[in-house]
Amino acid sequence: MSASTQQIAAAEKLLHSVFGYASFRLDQERIIANVLDKKDTLVVMPTGGGKSLCYQIPALVFEGLTVVVSPLISLMQDQVMQLKQLGVAAVCLNSSLDLVEYEENIAAIRAGKVKLLYLAPETLFLARTQALLKNIKVDCLTIDEAHCISDWGHDFRPEYRKLAEVRGKFAEAVTIALTATATAQVRADIKAQLAIPDSHEFVSSFDRPNLQLHVLPKANPESQVLGILRDHPNESGIVYCFSKAQVDELSTLLAARNFSVKPYHAGLSDMLRAKNQELFIRDDVQIIVATIAFGMGINKPNVRFVIHYDLPKNIESYYQEIGRAGRDSLKADCFLLYSHSDSQKIKYFISQKGDDEKRVALRQLTSLIHYAESDGCRRKSLLAYFGENAAESCGACDACLNPPKDKIDLTVPAQKFMSCVKKTGERFGAAYVVDVLRGAKTEKIFANAHDKLSTYGIGRDIAKQGWLALARQLIRQGLLAQDAEFSTLSLTAAAVPVLKSEKIFLGDSLQTSTRDHPFVKGAAGERSQIGGVRPELFELLRKRRKELADEQNVAPYMIFSDKTLVDMCARLPQSHAELLEVHGVGEMKMRRYGDEFLPFLRAHAAN
Ligand code: ADP
Ligand code: ZN
Repeated sequence: MSASTQQIAAAEKLLHSVFGYASFRLDQERIIANVLDKKDTLVVMPTGGGKSLCYQIPALVFEGLTVVVSPLISLMQDQVMQLKQLGVAAVCLNSSLDLVEYEENIAAIRAGKVKLLYLAPETLFLARTQALLKNIKVDCLTIDEAHCISDWGHDFRPEYRKLAEVRGKFAEAVTIALTATATAQVRADIKAQLAIPDSHEFVSSFDRPNLQLHVLPKANPESQVLGILRDHPNESGIVYCFSKAQVDELSTLLAARNFSVKPYHAGLSDMLRAKNQELFIRDDVQIIVATIAFGMGINKPNVRFVIHYDLPKNIESYYQEIGRAGRDSLKADCFLLYSHSDSQKIKYFISQKGDDEKRVALRQLTSLIHYAESDGCRRKSLLAYFGENAAESCGACDACLNPPKDKIDLTVPAQKFMSCVKKTGERFGAAYVVDVLRGAKTEKIFANAHDKLSTYGIGRDIAKQGWLALARQLIRQGLLAQDAEFSTLSLTAAAVPVLKSEKIFLGDSLQTSTRDHPFVKGAAGERSQIGGVRPELFELLRKRRKELADEQNVAPYMIFSDKTLVDMCARLPQSHAELLEVHGVGEMKMRRYGDEFLPFLRAHAAN
């Protein structure tokens, strides 16, 4: 038996009337049909891909209850609150509830008034939960974050293993497992544990076309971050740092520059961490500077940029971390500040580890370096890592937006620069070497008698900025190494053939080295469109949304997503009927908030 056309039609109707969306995305329709057919299903989609609808819509079509197993209380609460805003009967059972709420939820479930019940696996196994569900028709068992079932993955939860057994107790229920994990091993493990046949696995592309990918040579990271922040005024973003100390330092610096910013790392008290996270989610604070401790369980859809101040651990973590940007499918920017010396630092840490661990870690690091140092399309290289083929050029990464200028022969200046590094004893940073090359008359040079060197003054033909750009290219291409702490330069083995004129050195023109700009134009210019063609109206709607959210003590995105506000600005709806056409406005939200927003839209149209 296959899902009746009637059921599919019902699903489509719910998509419009409850969720306010125009059409299904990607595989959503096929997945939903499969679930409605009561065929156990595995869904693999990237973060922001739209996994939730895959079980929420069937839950509303099914007569009985859908039980959703989720590993984190914050995720459950977020989903339940969003569903309640849509007028959907969803509840959770967990330790955050007081006794009265708990009892109320139980009573509602017993009375058959609940469509979706969210709980942690531990709660599901409790005898009293089992007793409660025994007398209720359960049509669907949803296993969210299903990779927790696999000990190959990073979030293994032993309790998830027991879900395979508990399924037997719900004879009529179909199982749908969802995950954003790309690893084939983990996927195979989930399927094996839950006995889901290959034919019912739906794997979407991992491409997130709305994420713009940038790798910037880490030259002066603080000013690079400031540049990016100035380019993203009034937008939410996350800056990831490697260490707690770096988080504290950078967040203090940004706060001193009057940015709306809070730190987040494991060294802060639970209370302070929870508070800072909440401020961010509620749009009370715009920027979070954090270690990787931050992010799990964050559903905030309007994160507009993610900056990696330091090198992430590996490509999987990197993809997961940048995945927190742009969940609303509006454009978002991802910046990786990359220096060769950072990767050497990590290599050194890795070399201290045991053999097996060392091998894996080195392989992962090499992939990451390859990604950061390649000249080609970033997206192509990232997707290739996950085993996907992509077009040669994505048009939304630094390489595609600013293709490196045709390379030119820089052998002679490279030889001058590197021999000057050598002659000054490999004890100085780039600026000093440039001073010697340009024949500067500084006390330091005279004190070191470097005005007597044969390289003194041989580089007056190139401006200081040009020499510095050359130095960065030499570092990036691995001919020079830069000390992490003192920035002193030294030659690597790769420098020798160029010095001996056995090899030429090709690089970007020293006049306009686009890739050396502190940040790349492109995304930023386009993104001032966030407010669409009517940024002032967008601000008014955003302000009203924040007031309504504060009144209800919820996050602004629970009321309407940014995408909804953008669409309102574009369409300028003047009536309830027109408002229903807007992305993300279903019947319940129209009834609740339509009259709160229409006056602004009408006033704007009247002008
Ligand atoms: P995931 O759980 O895969 O990370 P979500 O289910 O949270 O992703 O969906 C991401 C965003 O996309 C949400 O804002 C969601 O409302 C939106 N979305 C999902 N499906 C559709 C659709 N068919 N049309 C428009 N928006 C959608
Ligand atoms: Zn590209």
